[in-house]
Amino acid sequence: MDNITIDYSILNKYSLCHRCFGRLYAKSLHTTNYERGRALKMAKAIELELNLANLYNLLNGLNELNENSNDIGEIKETEEDIIKEIEIKKEELKNIYKSGLIEITNMVENIEEIKETEETTNENEKKYSCPYCRDIFDKNHLNDISEKILKFTSNYEFDTFLIGTVLPKKIKELEKEIINDNPMAESIKQEFNRMMGKMIVEKTNKVVEKTNPDIVIMVNPYNKRIELQINSIFIKGRYNKLIRGIPQSHWHCRSCRGKGCEKCDWTGKQYPTSVEEIIAEPFMKAFKGKEEAFHGAGREDIDVRMLGNGRPFVLQIKEPKIRKADLKPLMEEVNKSGKVEIHNLEYGVRKDIIFFKNEAHRKTYLAHVECEDEITEDEIKQLVEQMQNLTINQRTPQRVSHRRADLIRVRNVYAVSLNKIINSKEFELKIYCDGGLYIKELIHGDEGRTIPSVSELLNKKCICKFLDVWDVHDFEHEEEQ
Ligand SMILES: [Zn+2]
Ligand SMILES: [Zn+2]
Repeated sequence: MDNITIDYSILNKYSLCHRCFGRLYAKSLHTTNYERGRALKMAKAIELELNLANLYNLLNGLNELNENSNDIGEIKETEEDIIKEIEIKKEELKNIYKSGLIEITNMVENIEEIKETEETTNENEKKYSCPYCRDIFDKNHLNDISEKILKFTSNYEFDTFLIGTVLPKKIKELEKEIINDNPMAESIKQEFNRMMGKMIVEKTNKVVEKTNPDIVIMVNPYNKRIELQINSIFIKGRYNKLIRGIPQSHWHCRSCRGKGCEKCDWTGKQYPTSVEEIIAEPFMKAFKGKEEAFHGAGREDIDVRMLGNGRPFVLQIKEPKIRKADLKPLMEEVNKSGKVEIHNLEYGVRKDIIFFKNEAHRKTYLAHVECEDEITEDEIKQLVEQMQNLTINQRTPQRVSHRRADLIRVRNVYAVSLNKIINSKEFELKIYCDGGLYIKELIHGDEGRTIPSVSELLNKKCICKFLDVWDVHDFEHEEEQ
């Protein structure tokens, strides 16, 4: 890193106020930007005053020397240099004065033009306004913005917030030029965030939270424009689907793609309801959300029930006006539907969704198998034996090939047990296997695409008449890792 020095030359180009000049060295001398800026300018002014006094002394000495000197040409040259130097120092001092260090009036009062400017602007308390901050830190200005924020946020329940500052393009460019990679500087954004954050804390008793705030308040302090980002709330739990025939999530009507048509009775929906809709409805009402998204740890087919300990899900409520509600009555309302039940509810975080998306949890299924021919108990027992710890090569099933890549997946069946024999052609198997194994195909074989299959092992044509998910083993899977 280069040697860091205080660079005053920027004041010759821009009359930066104390606060803006001090901010260029924010990471040194622990005080406010204003105090630091003022102190640095004061020190420089004193240095310049001494420089000028010395230069005038030198000039007077030369004049005396001049009276009895032979080498007038050389002295003349030196004199010109000194006068030039005096002009430069005067200019620097003038620029520091112009940047708001009015305490040094007496130092610069011999500079005529300054006096004039001073007189003309004397009525205004602020003599020179700063091109960088343009007075956005003025008390009234800050107060206006904070009041506007309070008004904007009054419709939303929140405990934590974060201020984010948006700079106009021109200010951004100016800042880049002024800071010029100086590692001691902080952005005007940081100071504004800090000050506005403090004001909002004082007025609301809410807390500033950097990583996961309820609300992010984006402010352009120059034109006072405010935009809110209301962060979602997440409710996680597990669901059971008690009946067949409803999808996990809302499906658009295939004919009209959601617009509404005769076929869907103008609902825009392919199915009258879904697990998602049944669960989301009371939550959307209670939290007054704008939209919701349902994230399940995998999904079961429409004709498959979800039993046992249920499937983990996260319900995301977007832009909620309410962030805190008692979950129990909402759960009870869902459970009254008779179609879907939820339990183990708690508030979650965004990260819970990613956990779902990345993990393929092991499952236990209950498969109701139906054979074309009669089958003996011994044959079933032999089948169960053969299926323990079995590796399955499964090519993408024909029924999903339109939306899934055609490839061969290798999945394991870990354990299989006979649940019950229903009649001479039908029985139920419990199958504990990897997530992502298609069970219907595991039974019928999908015309040789799934190898081996129950049909193949029995050498009898079989189908999966009914299927239930018995368990989603998300906890076990976590422990294994
Ligand atoms: Zn400023
Ligand atoms: Zn339709």
